[in-house]
Amino acid sequence: PVPVVAVVGRPNVGKSTLVNRIIGRRQAVVEDVAGVTRDRVAYDAEWLGRRFTVVDTGGWEPDARDRAAAIAAQAEIAVATADVVIFVVDAVVGPTDVDEAAVKMLRRGAKPVLLVGNKVDNTALESEVAALWSLGLGEPYPISALHGRGSGDLLDAVLKAM
Ligand code: GDP
Ligand code: MG
Repeated sequence: PVPVVAVVGRPNVGKSTLVNRIIGRRQAVVEDVAGVTRDRVAYDAEWLGRRFTVVDTGGWEPDARDRAAAIAAQAEIAVATADVVIFVVDAVVGPTDVDEAAVKMLRRGAKPVLLVGNKVDNTALESEVAALWSLGLGEPYPISALHGRGSGDLLDAVLKAM
């Protein structure tokens, strides 16, 4: 069976941009407004000759209602059915209460989690990721999903975790 990698995190942190980076084409829907990706969408991916499925999810939020609750539920199903989880945080914003709530949800899933600090577009922003250690998920991977910075190191780690 092909390993499954789920990409989760709160709205607008760059999950879909990262998924597009991983699959090497623009297929996941990227929008400037929060909460655009609905449900779960799976794509075929490959890194260093190893094939896997990468699953884009909508923004996870705690205590969500109505449509947002359905989206959050789908993100939790994505975690439950994944072999590895990429948890995306906005490194420029830093860890938020919603990110901390997401960490609790991820702990219940008991899957290997790689913590990504996204939007690290340049060296000057690199130091921002240190704040993400407080989430208790180990070393954060600084990346820029938009520009591709750090995505190779992240994918190397994904292969090791799956
Ligand atoms: P999602 O809601 O988590 O799927 O986030 P999207 O992938 O739709 O991205 C939300 C916004 O953040 C869009 O305007 C993206 O262009 C922007 N974005 C995503 N990744 C990066 C990044 O690495 N750097 C910067 N500066 N912006 C990013
Ligand atoms: Mg999205």
